[in-house]
Amino acid sequence: MCPGTSAAVDQHEVQSPPLIQLVREAKGASTSPLPLESGSSGIPEPDDEGPLYVARRKVYPQRVKGTFRTVKWIVLCVTLGIYYGLPFLRWDRGLNAPNQAVLVDLPNRRLYFFFVEIWPQEVYYLTGLLILAALTLFLMNAVAGRVWCGYLCPQTVWTDLYQAIERWFEGDRRAHLLRDRQPWTIERAARSAAKHAVWFIVAWWTGGAWVLYFADAPTLVHDLATFEAPITAYLWIGILTFTTYTLAGHMREQVCLYMCPWPRIQAALTDEYALNVTYRYDRGEPRGSVKKNAALRASGQPSGDCIDCYQCVYVCPTGVDIRNGANLGCIQCGLCIDACDGVMAKIGRPARLIAYDTDLNIRLREEGKPALRRIIRLRTVFYAAIISAVATIMLYTLTTRSSEGLNVIHDRNPMFVRLSDGELRNAYTLRILNKSLEMRAFELTVDGLADLDLKVVGDTTTTGRTAVIAVGPDQTRELRALVGTYSSLPPGASIPLTFRISDTETGQRASAVDHFRGP
Ligand code: SF4
Ligand code: SF4
Repeated sequence: MCPGTSAAVDQHEVQSPPLIQLVREAKGASTSPLPLESGSSGIPEPDDEGPLYVARRKVYPQRVKGTFRTVKWIVLCVTLGIYYGLPFLRWDRGLNAPNQAVLVDLPNRRLYFFFVEIWPQEVYYLTGLLILAALTLFLMNAVAGRVWCGYLCPQTVWTDLYQAIERWFEGDRRAHLLRDRQPWTIERAARSAAKHAVWFIVAWWTGGAWVLYFADAPTLVHDLATFEAPITAYLWIGILTFTTYTLAGHMREQVCLYMCPWPRIQAALTDEYALNVTYRYDRGEPRGSVKKNAALRASGQPSGDCIDCYQCVYVCPTGVDIRNGANLGCIQCGLCIDACDGVMAKIGRPARLIAYDTDLNIRLREEGKPALRRIIRLRTVFYAAIISAVATIMLYTLTTRSSEGLNVIHDRNPMFVRLSDGELRNAYTLRILNKSLEMRAFELTVDGLADLDLKVVGDTTTTGRTAVIAVGPDQTRELRALVGTYSSLPPGASIPLTFRISDTETGQRASAVDHFRGP
């Protein structure tokens, strides 16, 4: 007999919805999708007019083996491996630059990502990255629903890890359920304490890894161990330890249901062709025991493949019964597919009674038409095109960006001064950027006025309208520049001035435009 038959159902926390019974009886006449049963597992539906919050009913997800479980283990190992290991990866940028592959250097206001170095003036690259991330999420959603939620979201990954640790100490679903219903014993307390201790260590290590992205990792590890690290490092480790322990250890599916906006956004973005974890009720209903279904089949009566064993519900990390249809609580991790495939294999029925499919295909199959797979459609092409365009523009600007820059700001008060010798003078603040890792000298020139006179405060190289300014490697240099003229200007004059810098060795240039103001 398949694991978990009707006897096992008694132990399940989720009530069998009466609506399903009606569907079973009506099977054969209906061509519409299975009606949604609202909140069958205490989880509110998008259209549910019930309470905004339902007290949490603890979920005891059962261990499961199968394709999607394996994929999830691989994703978990890769993503956590990257997160914990990346700060220790070295990247040789030469002298005068940190050799950590990924580093957010807040004191020097730099972001290093392998060969890319982002300056504060180039924060638009981060905006581009956010746009890319959002569009990729939309594309994933258009192709296969909440793939992000089921496999890649940090909340899912850490919750998966915490559940694995919990199973290690508390046993699988049945053992854990039984233990929780028994009075406290020394053994139970010891198991619980050990579980929470390991959860805490994982949370602490998660917070520890986070701060390593903001300083040289090996040095910071040493400083943390010898209590010489800045207090902010300990503070952030504490905050991340608390949030990881709370969100992954205790709140789990509540985060997806009540805190995360993506399920709501995703529901508004999806269409009928997006693949979702779907119970193929056209094949599964009317459900019944193995014997009953076999008898019905033998007598030529309608019979489904679902034997109502609840294995798909037992393994669900959010406690959803996918047979009730689309549900906000379903993160589409595919574990119910693995569980049901295992059941189908045991009772000798074809796999994928639950599968990545669409309700549209169910209707088509019921009408005797072939199923539709439309991955290439207007919205997926649109998302892919925008992703390609944004990625290409970002790549182009990254590979062709200059290693020098110039910013000019005109003094606001006063806008101009008239000196005793009749010279009209404007003052500017200049910032010269040297993004290369070598010391450079730039020739500064100003154009726009016929008899222009440039003075750089504190610089002795200024002659007429040029000056030579040295800027250290990977640094900026701020200057005060005074531009004067003896020419008479029209009333209210605002004459464009072009400030230029030119590398005295390579000739690489940058420029900026501001205005010369008169009375
Ligand atoms: S869908 Fe599959 S796993 Fe779920 S109750 Fe039916 S037979 Fe069991
Ligand atoms: S219903 Fe299935 S796919 Fe959805 S969260 Fe539960 S196990 Fe994962």
